[in-house]
Amino acid sequence: MQDVILLMEAYPASIIVFAGVLGLMVGSFLNVVIHRLPIMMQKDWQSECRVLLTDELKAPASGTAESRYNLIVPRSACPKCGHKITAIENIPVISWLVLKGKCSECANPISARYPSVELLTGLMSVAVAFVVPFGWPLMLALTLTWFLVAMTFIDLDTMLLPDQLTLPLLWLGLLANVFGTFTDLQSAVLGAAAGYLSLWSIYWAFKLLTGKEGMGYGDFKLLAALGAWFGWMSLPVIILLSSFVGAIAGIALMVLAKNGRDQGIPFGPYLAGAGWLYLVYGQQLIDLYFSFIL
Ligand SMILES: [Zn+2]
Repeated sequence: MQDVILLMEAYPASIIVFAGVLGLMVGSFLNVVIHRLPIMMQKDWQSECRVLLTDELKAPASGTAESRYNLIVPRSACPKCGHKITAIENIPVISWLVLKGKCSECANPISARYPSVELLTGLMSVAVAFVVPFGWPLMLALTLTWFLVAMTFIDLDTMLLPDQLTLPLLWLGLLANVFGTFTDLQSAVLGAAAGYLSLWSIYWAFKLLTGKEGMGYGDFKLLAALGAWFGWMSLPVIILLSSFVGAIAGIALMVLAKNGRDQGIPFGPYLAGAGWLYLVYGQQLIDLYFSFIL
């Protein structure tokens, strides 16, 4: 292990390749998280409701094979024919291309989203490896990137940002900055609080003025997490960047959909995207922000 680390420090290109391959493999796992975490949450809510209503008649006995559903079991299978995905069919991007996007058993189409998420995660991991120093900072920055990818797609699918992702990300950001990895601890703690409160107050102001809800509590928690990672100074840039991208995407969607004026658009993907851009281009974005303001 020590030799591998020395080798990577001697050949920086190997770090980039390592990050890319790791990113592709993690992207494959993120597909599972994106698909299953919302279902797991739903199952949890249903079983909690059953307990509250003391109606356990239809509840599957806990611990049985049918009731077990998490990120590991059951194994991924074709939704049409039930064919279990083998290890060789699970190679990121390549397997999908070799299978031409179809199940090997019944030729049921496999969504292009799976290889896209893998490729995106791989490319983002490479970009992070270019700018973040090797070692703990890189491992932390990659972890942040992967969390953001998972949250983006879950929010797009379900309009939810699960606490199971936002809260651990917040704690991890605070812990990373105990050692001053991305900012000092003081700015991190202030960033977490200010991140939450800034969107919380915008939410209530908007709600009192218009009677509409523009965001959800998950968005506040995500910005709190980003504040914990990058410090309170990052927040104006992240908010501005996400609103800017969100406005452009919102207008584009309105023009394309023509009807979707009142249709909710999740804000989480823009926050996550802005947070990630800040990770990679932080200093350039701050410079741009000040040249814009002054
Ligand atoms: Zn099939």
